[in-house]
Formats: sequence, C-alpha cells, structure tokens
Amino acid sequence: MKDDTKDKYQVLSVEQAQERILAGIKPLGAESIPPTEALGRVLAEDVTAAEDIPPLANSAMDGYALRAQDTASASPTHPLRLRVIGSLAAGQVSAQALGAGEALRVMTGAPLPAGADAVVRFEQVSAGDGSISLTAPLEQAANVRSAGEDVQCGQRVLERGRFIRAQELGLMAGLGLTAVPVARRPLVAVIATGDELMQPGRFPAPGHIRDINGPTNAAQVRLAGGIPLELGIARDSTGELSIKIQEGLDKEAHLFVTSGGVSAGDFDFVKDVLSAVGRLDFWWVNMKPGRPLAFGYLGDVPLIALPGNPVAAFISFELFARPAILRLQGVNDYRMPVVRARLAEPITRKDGRRHYLRVRLDSSAEGYVASLTGDQGSGIVTSLVKADGLAVIPENCDHLERDSMVEVLLLR
Ligand code: AMP
Ligand code: MG
Repeated sequence: MKDDTKDKYQVLSVEQAQERILAGIKPLGAESIPPTEALGRVLAEDVTAAEDIPPLANSAMDGYALRAQDTASASPTHPLRLRVIGSLAAGQVSAQALGAGEALRVMTGAPLPAGADAVVRFEQVSAGDGSISLTAPLEQAANVRSAGEDVQCGQRVLERGRFIRAQELGLMAGLGLTAVPVARRPLVAVIATGDELMQPGRFPAPGHIRDINGPTNAAQVRLAGGIPLELGIARDSTGELSIKIQEGLDKEAHLFVTSGGVSAGDFDFVKDVLSAVGRLDFWWVNMKPGRPLAFGYLGDVPLIALPGNPVAAFISFELFARPAILRLQGVNDYRMPVVRARLAEPITRKDGRRHYLRVRLDSSAEGYVASLTGDQGSGIVTSLVKADGLAVIPENCDHLERDSMVEVLLLR
C-alpha cells in the first residue's frame, strides 16, 4: 500500500499552479517559413511594412476620374459636360494627364491618372458621344483610395506572439512577404495511463474501456499550435511508464502531458515515476473537476500529469497544458476568452473548490444566459460536447441564485 495522502502536499489555487508551470518554460525560438505554411502558427517577430497598402492611389468605383474643382458649378439646371479622353482598367496606367474639362473612364482599382482627384460613379452621370454630364458637384477625393490609406511604409502592422489567421496572412501578402518568421512548434509527448485502457480497433475486453484522453489531448496539443507525439497507452506500472517517458525524451519532446494515474489510488504511479526519474514540483490543485494534477521536470523538460477522468483531463489541459504550449511559442496571453452570463438555474457547491461548470450559452436581450449542459460528473463527455463554455464558480462561493452573473470561459 502506498501512503500518499494529499495532506502531505500543498494544494495550489489554479492561478498559483499556472504560475508555477509557466515560471520554468521558455520560448523555443523562431524559424522562417513560406506564407503558405504559416496559417495557425505564431508570429515570432513584429512585422513592419516595407510598402504602402494600397501602393498607389486608385479608383474605389467603376466610374469617371475627374478634377473635383471642375464640377463646382454642376446642378440639375446647369449640368456640367466633361470630355471623356479614354478608358482605364485595373492594372493599366494612363499615359495621359487629365486637363481641365476632361474625364477618364476608370474601372475599380485602376490607378488614378495624373491631374484627377475624384471619381464619379457611372450611375451618377449620363454618358453619350464622348462626353459625360453631371448634375451635382463632387468633393475632392470622392471614391478615391489614396496610396497608403490602409498601411504606410514603416508602420508596425503585426506584433509577435499572435496566432496567424487568414486575416494576418492577407495582410502579409499585401506587403509582399515571401517568408514569415514563426515560433517553432513544440513537440508534446502525450501518454494515457491505465491498465483498463484499450487501443482503438480492438473489441472491448472485460473490464476495459476505450482511451478517450489520448486522442483528446493530442487534438488539444494541435489546437494550441504544438505537434503531438502520441506515445499511446502506458500500463499502470513504473516500468512501462518509464519506458514511454524515455521514448519521449529520446525523441526530444519539449513537454510531456500524461493523463490518469495521478490520484491517490494504489496504482497511481505517475508522480512516483516523476519523482524517481525527475523532480516533482507540485501535486493537487483546488478545483473541480480535476483536483489531482501533478507538475514536475524530467531534467529540464516539463511534465504535466492530468487527472484521468476525461472531462477533468480536458479542462485541466486547457487551464495548464495549453498555456505551457503557448509559452513555448512565445505567446504570453494564455487566458481563455471570457464573457459574462446570467445563470439559468441556482448553483450550490460547498467544497471550497473552484468549479468549472459546463454550460451552454444563449443570448438574450439582457446578454448571455448560461445553462448547465447536464450531469456535471467528471467522466460525462457528452456534457462537454454540448458546452459552449465553462462557468467559473469561485472558491469562496457556496451558493449562487438563479440570474447571478458568472464568468464563462469560452471553449473553442
Ligand atoms: P485514474 O486517475 O487513473 O484513476 O482515472 C480516473 C478515471 O478516469 C478512471 O475511471 C479511469 O478509468 C478513467 N480514465 C483514465 N484515463 C482514461 C482515458 N485515457 N480515457 C478514458 N477514461 C480514462
Ligand atoms: Mg488509472
């Protein structure tokens, strides 16, 4: 029998545990990749524009480029006639400069000809035999996009540490970037522990269950920008877990995430192995689901031991492993997006732990309403699938009335 009781260990708050984990984690550094591969990666350096967007003044409409001052007198009773001296498509450049009383037919995106300072839309003129007539004056710069109106050369447009989405790729394409400095992707070893776990593709043997945490955690690694190194299932023995850990170290994992085997049961070996081959930093976090959580180092490689119950493993991953993977990529803001919502039902929790309740969010005229997605047991994965977010019930809060405001962490 093992004599581990949680009383021997300090129970940390969620924030204390997050800080302890992040304290020892340093960003991996940068690499340069083509923009076509940069989606979902983290920008490793600020991007400063070396060009203007747009690079040239151009027409925002299909219409006629003209000199605004020429149109000052135009009115329904005294229409103004301008001579049309040619036509210009996007991508062409006008050889002619515009003189007084002249207009140039331009398509959207066509560079504004020299001399012109406004564009009148087709719909606003009547055209015929080489001329147009206007019945209203046009303001200077009307329907013109000026050079650099979006981005000016020399301007810092993107900060390092942000995830590259389609929008960021578009901006970088607009600046002509052919290489993007991104953070290296952390290799994250994922190990599920448990004698009862089965590989996929097998028929369930008596007493066995399927491995939910391994594939879930691997997907969470990917969503956080890491590369999962799926080491599969380790049986509940120090020997088997040590072999998996050695495999991860040999493959140069930057972080280990295990699940299960970290509670106070007779077969919960993970932190024993961590203590034996590395160093245990802390065990137990004051939260629910997921109080058993261990953290430590294998040499200088951090290991986060998540609890085994699938909901607890998932939530603990989001709260502790995701920030670590983000920090390895130089992302400092690891907080989950949060909204405030009214509880659709009263909540009573009297164990002094921080609760993360799975909720669905509906919008109402008074803002979001949060309803529990069902059984809050730490093994009920369907309640996680139905959840839009996690309502946070503070440690010191025994009871919340219906309509109380709570913070809800949004799940991706
Ligand atoms: P443990 O902390 O190892 O005792 O696990 C707690 C509970 O979670 C037990 O009922 C385990 O069977 C279950 N469990 C542990 N790991 C997994 C997993 N990878 N997939 C599904 N259930 C798991
Ligand atoms: Mg177990």
